[in-house]
Amino acid sequence: MFSTMQDGPLSIARILRHGTGPHGGAEVVTWTGEGARRTSYAEIGRRTAQLAHALRGLGVTGDERVATFMWNNSEHLEAYFAVPSMGAVLHTLNIRLFPEQLVYVANHAEDQVVLVDGTLLPLFGKLLPELGTVRHVVVVGGDKAALQAPAGVEVHSYEELLAGQPTEFDWPEFDERSAAAMCYTSGTTGNPKGVVYSHRSVYLHSMQVCMTDGMALSQADRVLAVVPMFHAMSWGLPYAAFMVGASMIMPDRFLQPEPLVKMIAAERPTMAAAVPTIWQGVLQYLEANPHDVSSLREVVVGGAACPPSLMRTFEESYGIPVLHAWGMTETSPLGSVARPPAGVTGEERWRYRASQGRFPAGVQARLVGDDGSVLPWDGRSIGELEVRGPWIAGAYYGDDDPERFHDGWLRTGDVGYLTSDGFVQLTDRAKDVIKSGGEWISSVELENRVMEHPAVAEAMVIGVPDEKWSERPLVAVVLKEGHQADAAELRDFLSGQVAKWQLPEYWTFIPEAPKTSVGKFDKKRLRQQHAEGQLT
Ligand code: ADP
Repeated sequence: MFSTMQDGPLSIARILRHGTGPHGGAEVVTWTGEGARRTSYAEIGRRTAQLAHALRGLGVTGDERVATFMWNNSEHLEAYFAVPSMGAVLHTLNIRLFPEQLVYVANHAEDQVVLVDGTLLPLFGKLLPELGTVRHVVVVGGDKAALQAPAGVEVHSYEELLAGQPTEFDWPEFDERSAAAMCYTSGTTGNPKGVVYSHRSVYLHSMQVCMTDGMALSQADRVLAVVPMFHAMSWGLPYAAFMVGASMIMPDRFLQPEPLVKMIAAERPTMAAAVPTIWQGVLQYLEANPHDVSSLREVVVGGAACPPSLMRTFEESYGIPVLHAWGMTETSPLGSVARPPAGVTGEERWRYRASQGRFPAGVQARLVGDDGSVLPWDGRSIGELEVRGPWIAGAYYGDDDPERFHDGWLRTGDVGYLTSDGFVQLTDRAKDVIKSGGEWISSVELENRVMEHPAVAEAMVIGVPDEKWSERPLVAVVLKEGHQADAAELRDFLSGQVAKWQLPEYWTFIPEAPKTSVGKFDKKRLRQQHAEGQLT
């Protein structure tokens, strides 16, 4: 028996209509360095229709790919809605990938049109001759004459293209499982892998982001999306914000601690989301340059393990709770969220908050041991985390990876344990665990402990080859400006906190931690630096 309920596709156009209609007064603020540009959801709605008409005019039909090479700004938001709503597929290019990776992903996705921020033209111009399928480049907020295009590629100005286009578009209806957007993630081996989100997965994921035990977004919020729109769809914040009518603050290219803090003080966001390294920088800046950041009701930290010291500083010094969340490009990305169970207080509450949290109903999780057996949720058994659900990738685009997907589950590559009340505690990425004398050392746990030392700004730990133990931890430390500490002092600080055999004997002091394209600690690069003898 079928239900008696109406049916209707869950689509991005549905979110757009809601955001630009009843919530047309919500604001989008784009930081310009000096101040801000402002627009409303209603205006974004009109321009989204204009962009869709303009793209049709360039010949975009069916599920052709329209790429963006942009920072977080209001025009990028227009592309986020126009491209999928007209039935095409939005491909957010990660501007920080290596050029050869960018060329690979744009060609692999067969991008037809690329929207490029004017400020990124020097970078993009170098790639363009290698992009085999691109026919049109649309320059946003810059001088189109600055781009030398190869034969067969037309260059347009975004504003000229939109001017005079109708401000309404008859958004087509199609199967909710159709592709809406795609994002490439740096694979552990080989080329980046493409994840293709559907309208349905985006819609369901947006609802989860808004749920109270998710990121609890509401129309009362002003969301500062620091996490780039080219990194896992800015964690779904743009779509979620339109779904509930929360205003958005877009930092554009101003992602350094100083402008971020100034943005917070001036624009008074109620919530903000970014990877831990961004927040480390913000805290350091705030320490030396006090500003009013009290508008923040919560700060979301994910993308890498959040050091408990960062959580405590935010809460104890600024009264801002940090919400720890786990996810991957493959999981849309919201997987689990660390909201402690009701009634839990004191140190126990901190332990829950420092974990990666609980999975929502839409995400099923399990732990798998080395021998392939499914492990119990007993707070002790350690295995690889696997997940499945309607907003979890079931395959990569045009690139079979049976290593990653099996029996309908996504292998996350993350290692940890699950508690009986459903909290996941990750101990490491499988590839980062240090195997010392047959025992495992968690690189993340060592990093977190070292970062609790008052002189330490950042700490990265990798396993380095060792004749006797096969691997031993090496700690690379970035000291806070004006602070001093040597290896002996830091080792002393750790003793008593970790088992004696885990105490690292190798330490190095570096001016800056190598970071990945999305701002996480880049352990691959640190390992390379070590192998090349660059770390002393
Ligand atoms: P990349 O592999 O390029 O970093 P993603 O941004 O998709 O791409 O990263 C997903 C990975 O980030 C996860 O598999 C996990 O290792 C790590 N991660 C994300 N959130 C957390 C978290 N809260 N704690 C620990 N690790 C995390």
